[in-house]
Amino acid sequence: MQSMDIDMAALHSALDQLCDPEIPVVSLREMGILRDVKIVSNSVEVVITPTYSGCPAMEQIHDDILLTLKQLGVTGYVSTQLAPAWTTDWMTSSAREKLKAYGIAPPQCQSPDTSQVMHFIRRVPTEVIECPLCGSRNTTITSAFGSTACKALCKCLSCQEPFDYFKPY
Ligand SMILES: [Zn+2]
Repeated sequence: MQSMDIDMAALHSALDQLCDPEIPVVSLREMGILRDVKIVSNSVEVVITPTYSGCPAMEQIHDDILLTLKQLGVTGYVSTQLAPAWTTDWMTSSAREKLKAYGIAPPQCQSPDTSQVMHFIRRVPTEVIECPLCGSRNTTITSAFGSTACKALCKCLSCQEPFDYFKPY
């Protein structure tokens, strides 16, 4: 096999199968993490942008992409692009719908604010969050940290169910 003989369509569809390890229903592309796939000399460069710096899922995402390349017999590498910084606005509407169906309240749309990116992990959400289970807006945040640092733990006061809220930034 020649090194330039890469089936890009097969590669794209294989990469589209990869999901955010923390949210197994949403693909990396839908999350806005997978930014670009391109041929650089004789190998494939897969460009990703981490959801936030130090996100523990990024290491697994990196490994998953390398494994996918290997399975397709493609020589390639993963590069991380930090600017522009990822924001929840990059998530597609299908990603938001899937999050909600998965029981995680999707981030409320808002324009990115750099100071918020810096203080994202410590930030306590102040917006009104809709319960992904019953749609009630009568919810409360019980912890600024949910199952992972990028989520807050909420509770619905209507149906009494706890749920995760993907914090916007
Ligand atoms: Zn509810």
